[in-house]
Amino acid sequence: MDILTIGFEEQLRALRRVAAPIKNINGDVVHMAEEMIEAMIKGDGIGLAGPQVGRLERIFTIKIGDDDPMVFINPEITATSAELSSYEEGCLSIPGQYADVERPGLIQIQAWNTRGRPFTIEVNDIMATVIQHELDHLNGILFIDHISDRKREKILGKFDVEAESYPGVE
Ligand SMILES: [Zn+2]
Repeated sequence: MDILTIGFEEQLRALRRVAAPIKNINGDVVHMAEEMIEAMIKGDGIGLAGPQVGRLERIFTIKIGDDDPMVFINPEITATSAELSSYEEGCLSIPGQYADVERPGLIQIQAWNTRGRPFTIEVNDIMATVIQHELDHLNGILFIDHISDRKREKILGKFDVEAESYPGVE
């Protein structure tokens, strides 16, 4: 399973598209989740979203430290704290680039697992950041959309993407 990166025009455009809800959590979805977990671990990432592997579907996987990997299908953030925390973020689709991003420090998220069961969890710290970063991917948003124009242009420049040709969300 290949991971799309912003250095290729077509892949960048795909990363800027809004993913569709998964209607049926069947064997294909379970298989896709397993492949995503494998690609995420192989890439040394802590999160991976469907659009990053060319699947415009509302699914992402995370794996933080020694915890078991988790799969989130059709996730929705149901509450966020007013208090923000800041972490240095990176992205398998923007390899080698990092920037501090501020996001709500505590969130509640609802999603479905690969057995088709809904669950709700409340998370903070790094896990809250990773989940918000991955959920952004399902909406065509990259972490560089949360930083200053100057910093974003500098990162885009590393991939030979001109600021004017950075596509909007479709
Ligand atoms: Zn990412």
